[in-house]
Amino acid sequence: MRRPGRAEERCNVNVQYRAQYLDLAGMQNLQMVSRPVDSADHPARGGRDVAVIGAGIVGAMTAGALLRDGHRVTLIEPGEPGGEQAASFGNGAWISPASVVPMSTPGLWKKLPGYLSDRSGPLVIRWRALPALLPWLLRFWWAGHSLPRVQATARALSALLRDAPERHLRAAAQTGAAGLVVQRGLLYLYPDRAAFEAEALSWRLRHDNGVLARELDGAALRAQVPDVEAHYGLGLLVAAGAHCLDPGAYVSALVRQAQAGGARLVPARALGFAFGPGPQGKRLVAVRTDAGDVACQRAIICAGIASAELARQAGDRIPLASERGYRVVWPDAPVRLSLPVMPSDGKMALTPTRGGLRVAGQVELAEVSAPPDWRRADLLTRFARQMFPALRAGPRPGLASAAPETCSAEGRAASAAAPASRWMGHRPSTPDGLPVIGPSAQHPDIVHAFGHGHVGLAAAPATAELVADLLAGRTPAIDPGPYRADRF
Ligand SMILES: Cc1cc2nc3c(=O)[nH]c(=O)nc-3n(C[C@H](O)[C@H](O)[C@H](O)COP(=O)(O)OP(=O)(O)OC[C@H]3O[C@@H](n4cnc5c(N)ncnc54)[C@H](O)[C@@H]3O)c2cc1C
Repeated sequence: MRRPGRAEERCNVNVQYRAQYLDLAGMQNLQMVSRPVDSADHPARGGRDVAVIGAGIVGAMTAGALLRDGHRVTLIEPGEPGGEQAASFGNGAWISPASVVPMSTPGLWKKLPGYLSDRSGPLVIRWRALPALLPWLLRFWWAGHSLPRVQATARALSALLRDAPERHLRAAAQTGAAGLVVQRGLLYLYPDRAAFEAEALSWRLRHDNGVLARELDGAALRAQVPDVEAHYGLGLLVAAGAHCLDPGAYVSALVRQAQAGGARLVPARALGFAFGPGPQGKRLVAVRTDAGDVACQRAIICAGIASAELARQAGDRIPLASERGYRVVWPDAPVRLSLPVMPSDGKMALTPTRGGLRVAGQVELAEVSAPPDWRRADLLTRFARQMFPALRAGPRPGLASAAPETCSAEGRAASAAAPASRWMGHRPSTPDGLPVIGPSAQHPDIVHAFGHGHVGLAAAPATAELVADLLAGRTPAIDPGPYRADRF
Protein backbone atom coordinates (compact mmCIF):
# COMPACT_ATOMS: atom_id res chain seq x y z
CA MET A 1 0.00 0.00 0.00
CA ARG A 2 1.27 3.47 -0.83
CA ARG A 3 2.31 5.46 2.26
CA PRO A 4 0.79 8.94 2.33
CA GLY A 5 3.20 11.82 1.66
CA ARG A 6 3.88 14.43 4.39
CA ALA A 7 1.48 16.93 2.94
CA GLU A 8 -1.24 14.28 2.74
CA GLU A 9 -0.58 13.25 6.35
CA ARG A 10 -0.99 16.82 7.50
CA CYS A 11 -4.19 17.12 5.54
CA ASN A 12 -5.55 13.93 7.14
CA VAL A 13 -4.75 15.24 10.58
CA ASN A 14 -6.85 18.29 9.84
CA VAL A 15 -9.71 16.20 8.54
CA GLN A 16 -9.56 14.21 11.80
CA TYR A 17 -9.56 17.40 13.84
CA ARG A 18 -12.56 18.52 11.99
CA ALA A 19 -14.39 15.23 12.42
CA GLN A 20 -13.62 15.08 16.15
CA TYR A 21 -14.71 18.63 16.66
CA LEU A 22 -17.91 18.15 14.69
CA ASP A 23 -18.66 14.99 16.69
CA LEU A 24 -18.10 16.72 19.96
CA ALA A 25 -19.92 19.87 19.20
CA GLY A 26 -22.74 18.10 17.41
CA MET A 27 -22.75 20.92 14.89
CA GLN A 28 -23.03 19.63 11.36
CA ASN A 29 -22.69 22.86 9.48
CA LEU A 30 -19.88 24.52 11.30
CA GLN A 31 -18.19 26.99 9.04
CA MET A 32 -14.40 26.75 9.08
CA VAL A 33 -12.97 30.16 8.31
CA SER A 34 -9.60 28.54 8.36
CA ARG A 35 -8.60 26.42 5.50
CA PRO A 36 -6.61 23.55 6.99
CA VAL A 37 -3.84 25.46 8.68
CA ASP A 38 -1.15 23.39 6.98
CA SER A 39 -2.36 24.52 3.59
CA ALA A 40 -0.23 26.41 1.11
CA ASP A 41 -0.64 29.59 3.21
CA HIS A 42 1.81 28.21 5.70
CA PRO A 43 5.21 26.92 4.76
CA ALA A 44 5.62 23.39 6.13
CA ARG A 45 8.43 23.70 8.63
CA GLY A 46 7.39 21.45 11.48
CA GLY A 47 6.17 23.12 14.63
CA ARG A 48 2.57 23.44 15.68
CA ASP A 49 -0.55 25.20 14.49
CA VAL A 50 -0.80 28.13 16.86
CA ALA A 51 -3.61 30.68 17.02
CA VAL A 52 -2.57 34.02 18.49
CA ILE A 53 -5.66 35.87 19.71
CA GLY A 54 -5.24 39.64 19.45
CA ALA A 55 -2.79 41.67 17.40
CA GLY A 56 -1.75 44.42 19.79
CA ILE A 57 1.93 44.76 20.62
CA VAL A 58 1.93 41.53 22.66
CA GLY A 59 0.21 39.43 19.97
CA ALA A 60 2.31 40.93 17.17
CA MET A 61 5.57 40.22 19.00
CA THR A 62 4.39 36.76 20.04
CA ALA A 63 3.47 35.86 16.45
CA GLY A 64 7.00 36.83 15.37
CA ALA A 65 8.68 34.76 18.08
CA LEU A 66 6.55 31.71 17.27
CA LEU A 67 7.27 31.98 13.56
CA ARG A 68 10.99 32.02 14.31
CA ASP A 69 10.50 28.69 16.10
CA GLY A 70 8.88 27.20 13.01
CA HIS A 71 5.26 27.25 14.19
CA ARG A 72 2.41 27.87 11.77
CA VAL A 73 0.76 30.99 13.12
CA THR A 74 -2.74 32.36 12.65
CA LEU A 75 -3.40 35.81 14.12
CA ILE A 76 -7.04 36.42 15.04
CA GLU A 77 -7.87 40.12 15.30
CA PRO A 78 -11.22 41.86 14.72
CA GLY A 79 -9.73 45.34 14.27
CA GLU A 80 -6.91 46.94 12.37
CA PRO A 81 -3.62 45.63 13.84
CA GLY A 82 -2.21 48.55 15.82
CA GLY A 83 -5.54 50.38 15.41
CA GLU A 84 -7.08 52.67 17.97
CA GLN A 85 -9.15 49.93 19.60
CA ALA A 86 -5.90 48.63 21.11
CA ALA A 87 -4.04 50.01 24.12
CA SER A 88 -0.94 49.57 21.98
CA PHE A 89 -2.11 52.43 19.73
CA GLY A 90 -2.23 55.39 22.08
CA ASN A 91 0.17 54.66 24.90
CA GLY A 92 2.96 56.92 26.17
CA ALA A 93 5.45 55.13 23.88
CA TRP A 94 8.01 54.65 26.66
CA ILE A 95 10.28 51.64 26.47
CA SER A 96 11.65 51.91 29.94
CA PRO A 97 13.80 49.53 31.96
CA ALA A 98 12.91 51.80 34.90
CA SER A 99 9.18 50.95 34.90
CA VAL A 100 9.68 48.39 37.66
CA VAL A 101 7.69 50.29 40.30
CA PRO A 102 4.23 48.80 40.79
CA MET A 103 1.22 51.08 41.23
CA SER A 104 0.42 49.57 44.60
CA THR A 105 2.97 50.43 47.27
CA PRO A 106 2.85 50.53 51.10
CA GLY A 107 0.66 53.31 52.46
CA LEU A 108 -1.51 53.49 49.37
CA TRP A 109 -4.73 52.96 51.32
CA LYS A 110 -4.23 56.35 52.98
CA LYS A 111 -4.60 57.96 49.58
CA LEU A 112 -7.80 56.10 48.61
CA PRO A 113 -10.27 58.75 49.88
CA GLY A 114 -8.44 61.33 47.76
CA TYR A 115 -8.69 59.15 44.68
CA LEU A 116 -12.44 58.95 45.18
CA SER A 117 -12.94 62.65 45.81
CA ASP A 118 -10.27 64.57 43.83
CA ARG A 119 -11.53 64.57 40.26
CA SER A 120 -8.44 66.39 38.99
CA GLY A 121 -5.73 64.03 40.29
CA PRO A 122 -3.82 61.50 38.20
CA LEU A 123 -5.86 58.56 39.61
CA VAL A 124 -9.61 58.42 40.00
CA ILE A 125 -12.11 55.72 40.77
CA ARG A 126 -15.60 56.15 39.40
CA TRP A 127 -18.08 55.66 42.23
CA ARG A 128 -20.41 53.61 40.07
CA ALA A 129 -17.67 51.08 39.36
CA LEU A 130 -16.65 50.74 42.99
CA PRO A 131 -18.78 47.70 44.03
CA ALA A 132 -17.60 45.61 41.06
CA LEU A 133 -14.02 46.76 41.55
CA LEU A 134 -13.82 46.08 45.28
CA PRO A 135 -12.36 42.54 45.07
CA TRP A 136 -9.74 43.79 42.58
CA LEU A 137 -8.97 46.80 44.77
CA LEU A 138 -8.49 44.60 47.83
CA ARG A 139 -6.00 42.43 45.96
CA PHE A 140 -4.38 45.60 44.62
CA TRP A 141 -3.93 46.93 48.15
CA TRP A 142 -2.64 43.55 49.39
CA ALA A 143 -0.09 43.33 46.54
CA GLY A 144 1.56 46.51 47.79
CA HIS A 145 1.02 46.28 51.52
CA SER A 146 4.57 45.21 52.40
CA LEU A 147 7.99 46.13 51.14
CA PRO A 148 9.10 42.51 50.43
CA ARG A 149 6.06 42.02 48.18
CA VAL A 150 6.75 45.22 46.29
CA GLN A 151 10.41 44.25 45.91
CA ALA A 152 9.39 40.85 44.50
CA THR A 153 7.06 42.55 42.01
CA ALA A 154 9.81 44.96 40.95
CA ARG A 155 12.20 42.03 40.37
CA ALA A 156 9.60 40.22 38.26
CA LEU A 157 8.91 43.36 36.22
CA SER A 158 12.62 43.96 35.78
CA ALA A 159 13.07 40.49 34.28
CA LEU A 160 10.70 41.55 31.47
CA LEU A 161 11.96 45.12 31.12
CA ARG A 162 15.72 44.97 31.64
CA ASP A 163 16.62 44.55 27.98
CA ALA A 164 13.46 46.09 26.54
CA PRO A 165 15.21 48.91 24.60
CA GLU A 166 17.69 46.54 22.93
CA ARG A 167 14.98 43.98 22.15
CA HIS A 168 12.78 46.65 20.56
CA LEU A 169 15.65 48.18 18.60
CA ARG A 170 16.39 44.72 17.18
CA ALA A 171 12.74 43.99 16.43
CA ALA A 172 12.22 47.35 14.73
CA ALA A 173 15.34 46.86 12.61
CA GLN A 174 14.04 43.46 11.49
CA THR A 175 10.65 44.85 10.46
CA GLY A 176 12.17 47.40 8.15
CA ALA A 177 10.79 50.08 10.49
CA ALA A 178 14.12 50.65 12.20
CA GLY A 179 13.54 54.37 12.66
CA LEU A 180 10.41 53.78 14.75
CA VAL A 181 12.34 52.98 17.93
CA VAL A 182 15.02 55.36 19.21
CA GLN A 183 17.22 55.30 22.28
CA ARG A 184 17.71 58.83 23.55
CA GLY A 185 17.06 58.22 27.23
CA LEU A 186 14.05 59.07 29.40
CA LEU A 187 13.92 61.99 31.81
CA TYR A 188 12.06 62.11 35.14
CA LEU A 189 11.48 65.74 36.20
CA TYR A 190 11.18 67.07 39.76
CA PRO A 191 10.56 70.58 41.04
CA ASP A 192 13.27 70.09 43.65
CA ARG A 193 15.21 67.58 45.71
CA ALA A 194 12.42 67.24 48.28
CA ALA A 195 10.04 66.04 45.55
CA PHE A 196 12.69 63.58 44.35
CA GLU A 197 13.23 62.30 47.88
CA ALA A 198 9.50 61.77 48.27
CA GLU A 199 9.95 59.07 45.61
CA ALA A 200 12.89 57.45 47.38
CA LEU A 201 11.25 54.01 47.35
CA SER A 202 10.77 54.10 43.56
CA TRP A 203 14.42 54.97 42.98
CA ARG A 204 15.57 52.38 45.46
CA LEU A 205 13.60 49.72 43.59
CA ARG A 206 15.08 50.92 40.30
CA HIS A 207 18.59 50.97 41.72
CA ASP A 208 18.20 47.47 43.21
CA ASN A 209 17.20 46.23 39.76
CA GLY A 210 20.20 47.65 37.98
CA VAL A 211 18.62 50.81 36.55
CA LEU A 212 21.24 53.53 36.17
CA ALA A 213 20.14 57.15 36.43
CA ARG A 214 22.10 60.38 36.31
CA GLU A 215 21.06 63.54 38.13
CA LEU A 216 20.81 66.69 36.06
CA ASP A 217 20.27 70.22 37.28
CA GLY A 218 21.09 73.78 36.28
CA ALA A 219 22.49 74.19 32.79
CA ALA A 220 22.74 70.44 32.17
CA LEU A 221 19.00 70.09 32.77
CA ARG A 222 18.13 73.14 30.63
CA ALA A 223 20.23 71.73 27.80
CA GLN A 224 17.99 68.64 27.76
CA VAL A 225 14.68 70.48 28.14
CA PRO A 226 15.21 74.11 27.14
CA ASP A 227 11.51 74.96 26.95
CA VAL A 228 10.27 73.41 30.17
CA GLU A 229 8.97 75.68 32.95
CA ALA A 230 11.69 76.90 35.37
CA HIS A 231 9.69 75.29 38.18
CA TYR A 232 11.52 72.01 37.37
CA GLY A 233 14.95 72.12 38.97
CA LEU A 234 16.04 68.49 38.99
CA GLY A 235 16.04 65.68 36.44
CA LEU A 236 16.91 61.99 36.62
CA LEU A 237 18.08 60.76 33.24
CA VAL A 238 17.78 57.06 32.48
CA ALA A 239 20.09 57.02 29.49
CA ALA A 240 19.33 53.40 28.56
CA GLY A 241 15.64 54.18 28.00
CA ALA A 242 14.11 54.21 24.53
CA HIS A 243 10.83 55.28 22.99
CA CYS A 244 8.70 54.53 20.00
CA LEU A 245 7.93 57.25 17.49
CA ASP A 246 4.61 55.71 16.38
CA PRO A 247 3.35 52.77 18.45
CA GLY A 248 0.37 52.00 16.19
CA ALA A 249 2.48 51.98 13.03
CA TYR A 250 5.05 49.82 14.81
CA VAL A 251 2.45 47.14 15.65
CA SER A 252 1.13 47.25 12.14
CA ALA A 253 4.69 46.82 10.75
CA LEU A 254 5.30 43.86 13.06
CA VAL A 255 2.08 42.21 11.89
CA ARG A 256 2.94 42.81 8.23
CA GLN A 257 6.32 41.25 8.85
CA ALA A 258 4.69 38.24 10.53
CA GLN A 259 2.42 37.87 7.49
CA ALA A 260 5.43 38.03 5.19
CA GLY A 261 6.94 35.27 7.34
CA GLY A 262 3.91 33.02 6.78
CA ALA A 263 1.42 34.07 9.46
CA ARG A 264 -2.21 34.30 8.46
CA LEU A 265 -4.37 37.17 9.71
CA VAL A 266 -8.01 36.24 10.32
CA PRO A 267 -10.26 39.29 10.75
CA ALA A 268 -12.49 37.87 13.46
CA ARG A 269 -13.28 38.07 17.16
CA ALA A 270 -12.39 35.02 19.25
CA LEU A 271 -15.33 33.80 21.33
CA GLY A 272 -14.01 30.66 23.01
CA PHE A 273 -12.44 27.28 22.41
CA ALA A 274 -13.35 23.85 21.11
CA PHE A 275 -11.81 20.73 22.60
CA GLY A 276 -11.48 17.12 21.54
CA PRO A 277 -10.42 14.03 23.45
CA GLY A 278 -6.68 13.74 24.04
CA PRO A 279 -4.25 11.40 25.78
CA GLN A 280 -4.38 13.38 29.04
CA GLY A 281 -7.92 14.71 28.93
CA LYS A 282 -9.20 17.27 26.49
CA ARG A 283 -7.01 18.84 23.90
CA LEU A 284 -7.57 22.07 22.05
CA VAL A 285 -8.78 21.68 18.47
CA ALA A 286 -9.98 25.14 17.54
CA VAL A 287 -10.55 28.73 18.56
CA ARG A 288 -14.18 29.67 18.06
CA THR A 289 -14.68 33.03 16.43
CA ASP A 290 -17.60 35.11 15.19
CA ALA A 291 -16.58 34.11 11.67
CA GLY A 292 -16.25 30.38 12.25
CA ASP A 293 -13.65 28.15 13.84
CA VAL A 294 -9.90 28.34 13.46
CA ALA A 295 -8.30 24.92 13.85
CA CYS A 296 -5.20 24.90 16.02
CA GLN A 297 -3.19 22.88 18.49
CA ARG A 298 -2.24 25.77 20.74
CA ALA A 299 -3.83 29.17 21.37
CA ILE A 300 -2.21 32.20 22.92
CA ILE A 301 -4.52 34.75 24.56
CA CYS A 302 -3.14 38.25 23.85
CA ALA A 303 -6.42 40.13 23.67
CA GLY A 304 -5.57 42.94 26.08
CA ILE A 305 -8.52 43.93 28.25
CA ALA A 306 -10.74 41.30 26.55
CA SER A 307 -8.43 38.51 27.70
CA ALA A 308 -10.10 37.79 31.05
CA GLU A 309 -13.28 36.55 29.38
CA LEU A 310 -11.30 34.28 27.05
CA ALA A 311 -9.27 33.00 30.01
CA ARG A 312 -12.56 32.24 31.74
CA GLN A 313 -13.59 30.18 28.72
CA ALA A 314 -10.36 28.25 29.28
CA GLY A 315 -11.31 27.71 32.91
CA ASP A 316 -9.14 30.37 34.60
CA ARG A 317 -10.50 33.24 36.66
CA ILE A 318 -8.07 36.10 36.31
CA PRO A 319 -8.87 39.41 37.99
CA LEU A 320 -8.32 41.95 35.24
CA ALA A 321 -9.44 45.58 35.44
CA SER A 322 -9.18 48.41 33.00
CA GLU A 323 -6.96 51.19 34.22
CA ARG A 324 -8.27 53.56 31.61
CA GLY A 325 -5.77 56.06 30.31
CA TYR A 326 -5.99 59.09 28.04
CA ARG A 327 -3.77 60.67 25.42
CA VAL A 328 -3.65 63.96 23.54
CA VAL A 329 -1.35 64.91 20.64
CA TRP A 330 -0.12 68.32 19.51
CA PRO A 331 1.03 67.88 15.91
CA ASP A 332 3.07 71.08 15.81
CA ALA A 333 3.85 71.78 19.43
CA PRO A 334 6.23 74.74 19.59
CA VAL A 335 8.56 73.13 22.11
CA ARG A 336 12.01 71.66 21.75
CA LEU A 337 11.93 68.17 23.21
CA SER A 338 14.22 65.44 21.97
CA LEU A 339 13.51 62.83 24.63
CA PRO A 340 10.43 61.78 26.64
CA VAL A 341 9.87 63.39 30.03
CA MET A 342 7.71 62.56 33.04
CA PRO A 343 6.97 65.27 35.65
CA SER A 344 6.69 63.99 39.22
CA ASP A 345 3.76 66.29 39.92
CA GLY A 346 1.76 65.33 36.82
CA LYS A 347 2.53 61.61 36.45
CA MET A 348 2.16 61.62 32.69
CA ALA A 349 4.42 60.85 29.76
CA LEU A 350 5.27 63.68 27.36
CA THR A 351 6.88 62.05 24.37
CA PRO A 352 8.16 63.49 21.10
CA THR A 353 6.74 61.29 18.33
CA ARG A 354 6.34 61.28 14.59
CA GLY A 355 2.83 62.67 15.00
CA GLY A 356 3.85 65.46 17.40
CA LEU A 357 3.98 65.91 21.14
CA ARG A 358 2.14 62.95 22.69
CA VAL A 359 0.89 63.44 26.24
CA ALA A 360 -0.38 60.23 27.84
CA GLY A 361 -1.44 59.38 31.33
CA GLN A 362 -4.24 59.35 33.92
CA VAL A 363 -5.55 56.26 35.63
CA GLU A 364 -9.32 56.02 35.71
CA LEU A 365 -10.79 52.91 37.30
CA ALA A 366 -14.17 52.50 35.65
CA GLU A 367 -16.23 49.92 33.78
CA VAL A 368 -14.71 48.93 30.44
CA SER A 369 -17.89 49.94 28.67
CA ALA A 370 -18.29 53.35 30.33
CA PRO A 371 -17.99 56.27 27.90
CA PRO A 372 -14.74 58.24 28.02
CA ASP A 373 -14.63 61.17 30.39
CA TRP A 374 -12.84 63.68 28.18
CA ARG A 375 -12.27 65.97 31.14
CA ARG A 376 -9.40 63.60 31.93
CA ALA A 377 -7.82 64.30 28.55
CA ASP A 378 -8.32 68.01 29.23
CA LEU A 379 -6.34 67.59 32.46
CA LEU A 380 -3.43 66.29 30.39
CA THR A 381 -3.70 69.31 28.11
CA ARG A 382 -3.81 71.69 31.04
CA PHE A 383 -0.82 70.12 32.72
CA ALA A 384 1.24 70.11 29.52
CA ARG A 385 0.50 73.84 29.21
CA GLN A 386 1.71 74.38 32.77
CA MET A 387 4.94 72.59 31.95
CA PHE A 388 5.65 74.28 28.64
CA PRO A 389 4.86 78.02 28.57
CA ALA A 390 5.02 77.93 24.76
CA LEU A 391 1.88 75.77 24.71
CA ARG A 392 -0.08 78.53 26.44
CA ALA A 393 0.64 81.16 23.82
CA GLY A 394 -1.04 81.61 20.47
CA PRO A 395 0.66 80.72 17.19
CA ARG A 396 4.40 81.43 17.34
CA PRO A 397 7.17 81.46 14.79
CA GLY A 398 8.82 78.08 14.29
CA LEU A 399 11.50 77.06 16.75
CA ALA A 400 14.65 75.26 15.73
CA SER A 401 14.50 71.53 16.28
CA ALA A 402 17.15 69.79 18.34
CA ALA A 403 16.59 66.53 16.44
CA PRO A 404 14.44 65.45 13.49
CA GLU A 405 11.63 64.02 15.62
CA THR A 406 11.44 66.83 18.15
CA CYS A 407 8.07 68.41 18.36
CA SER A 408 8.52 71.51 16.29
CA ALA A 409 9.86 71.47 12.78
CA GLU A 410 12.31 74.15 11.77
CA GLY A 411 10.88 76.96 9.72
CA ARG A 412 7.25 75.94 10.23
CA ALA A 413 4.87 78.26 11.97
CA ALA A 414 4.30 76.26 15.10
CA SER A 415 0.96 76.36 16.77
CA ALA A 416 0.21 76.23 20.46
CA ALA A 417 -3.46 75.71 19.72
CA ALA A 418 -5.30 72.85 21.37
CA PRO A 419 -4.10 69.31 20.72
CA ALA A 420 -5.44 67.86 17.50
CA SER A 421 -6.53 64.48 18.76
CA ARG A 422 -7.50 62.73 21.94
CA TRP A 423 -7.92 59.08 22.77
CA MET A 424 -8.88 56.78 25.63
CA GLY A 425 -7.59 53.23 26.02
CA HIS A 426 -7.63 50.32 28.44
CA ARG A 427 -4.52 49.25 30.31
CA PRO A 428 -5.18 45.56 30.95
CA SER A 429 -4.24 45.43 34.62
CA THR A 430 -3.95 42.69 37.19
CA PRO A 431 -4.10 43.75 40.84
CA ASP A 432 -0.50 42.71 41.56
CA GLY A 433 0.91 44.66 38.62
CA LEU A 434 2.34 41.60 36.88
CA PRO A 435 1.16 40.11 33.61
CA VAL A 436 -0.21 36.61 33.26
CA ILE A 437 2.15 34.59 31.10
CA GLY A 438 2.02 30.81 30.87
CA PRO A 439 -0.32 27.90 30.35
CA SER A 440 -3.90 27.91 31.49
CA ALA A 441 -4.30 25.94 34.71
CA GLN A 442 -7.18 23.95 33.18
CA HIS A 443 -6.13 23.60 29.55
CA PRO A 444 -2.36 23.72 29.03
CA ASP A 445 -2.84 23.96 25.24
CA ILE A 446 -4.05 27.50 25.91
CA VAL A 447 -1.35 29.94 26.93
CA HIS A 448 -1.96 33.34 28.51
CA ALA A 449 0.03 36.43 27.54
CA PHE A 450 -1.87 39.44 28.83
CA GLY A 451 -2.36 41.78 31.77
CA HIS A 452 0.67 44.00 31.18
CA GLY A 453 -0.99 47.09 32.65
CA HIS A 454 1.34 50.08 32.37
CA VAL A 455 4.26 48.30 30.71
CA GLY A 456 2.88 46.27 27.80
CA LEU A 457 4.80 48.05 25.07
CA ALA A 458 8.11 47.69 26.89
CA ALA A 459 7.51 44.13 28.11
CA ALA A 460 6.13 42.68 24.87
CA PRO A 461 9.39 41.28 23.37
CA ALA A 462 10.40 39.45 26.57
CA THR A 463 6.83 38.16 26.93
CA ALA A 464 6.91 36.83 23.38
CA GLU A 465 10.18 35.03 23.98
CA LEU A 466 8.90 33.52 27.19
CA VAL A 467 5.79 32.22 25.42
CA ALA A 468 7.95 30.77 22.63
CA ASP A 469 10.23 29.07 25.18
CA LEU A 470 7.25 27.58 26.99
CA LEU A 471 5.73 26.26 23.76
CA ALA A 472 9.04 24.78 22.66
CA GLY A 473 9.60 23.12 26.04
CA ARG A 474 12.91 24.99 26.39
CA THR A 475 14.11 26.14 29.79
CA PRO A 476 12.99 29.76 29.63
CA ALA A 477 15.57 32.49 29.97
CA ILE A 478 13.11 34.25 32.32
CA ASP A 479 11.62 32.44 35.33
CA PRO A 480 7.90 32.16 34.50
CA GLY A 481 6.93 31.56 38.17
CA PRO A 482 5.80 35.10 39.05
CA TYR A 483 3.46 35.33 36.05
CA ARG A 484 1.59 32.04 36.55
CA ALA A 485 -2.18 32.12 36.01
CA ASP A 486 -2.90 30.13 39.17
CA ARG A 487 -1.35 32.72 41.50
CA PHE A 488 -4.79 34.29 41.95
C1 LIG B 1 -2.60 56.06 28.33
C2 LIG B 1 -1.69 54.86 28.31
C3 LIG B 1 -0.30 55.05 28.37
C4 LIG B 1 0.56 53.95 28.35
N1 LIG B 1 1.90 54.15 28.29
C5 LIG B 1 2.75 53.09 28.16
C6 LIG B 1 4.13 53.28 27.96
O1 LIG B 1 4.60 54.42 27.85
N2 LIG B 1 4.93 52.20 27.87
C7 LIG B 1 4.45 50.92 27.98
O2 LIG B 1 5.22 49.97 27.94
N3 LIG B 1 3.10 50.70 28.12
C8 LIG B 1 2.26 51.75 28.21
N4 LIG B 1 0.91 51.55 28.33
C9 LIG B 1 0.41 50.18 28.44
C10 LIG B 1 0.41 49.46 27.11
O3 LIG B 1 -0.16 50.28 26.11
C11 LIG B 1 -0.40 48.17 27.22
O4 LIG B 1 0.05 47.41 28.33
C12 LIG B 1 -0.23 47.32 25.97
O5 LIG B 1 -0.54 48.08 24.83
C13 LIG B 1 -1.10 46.08 26.01
O6 LIG B 1 -0.89 45.41 24.80
P1 LIG B 1 -1.77 44.15 24.39
O7 LIG B 1 -1.26 43.67 23.10
O8 LIG B 1 -1.80 43.21 25.56
O9 LIG B 1 -3.26 44.73 24.30
P2 LIG B 1 -3.90 45.68 23.18
O10 LIG B 1 -2.91 46.61 22.64
O11 LIG B 1 -5.12 46.25 23.78
O12 LIG B 1 -4.27 44.68 22.01
C14 LIG B 1 -5.25 43.70 22.19
C15 LIG B 1 -5.80 43.37 20.81
O13 LIG B 1 -6.69 42.27 20.98
C16 LIG B 1 -7.79 42.49 20.14
N5 LIG B 1 -8.95 41.74 20.69
C17 LIG B 1 -9.78 42.10 21.68
N6 LIG B 1 -10.70 41.15 21.87
C18 LIG B 1 -10.43 40.17 20.99
C19 LIG B 1 -11.03 38.93 20.70
N7 LIG B 1 -12.09 38.48 21.40
N8 LIG B 1 -10.51 38.18 19.70
C20 LIG B 1 -9.42 38.59 19.01
N9 LIG B 1 -8.81 39.77 19.25
C21 LIG B 1 -9.31 40.54 20.23
C22 LIG B 1 -8.02 43.98 20.17
O14 LIG B 1 -8.75 44.40 19.01
C23 LIG B 1 -6.59 44.50 20.19
O15 LIG B 1 -6.11 44.79 18.91
C24 LIG B 1 0.02 52.62 28.33
C25 LIG B 1 -1.36 52.45 28.25
C26 LIG B 1 -2.21 53.55 28.23
C27 LIG B 1 -3.70 53.33 28.10
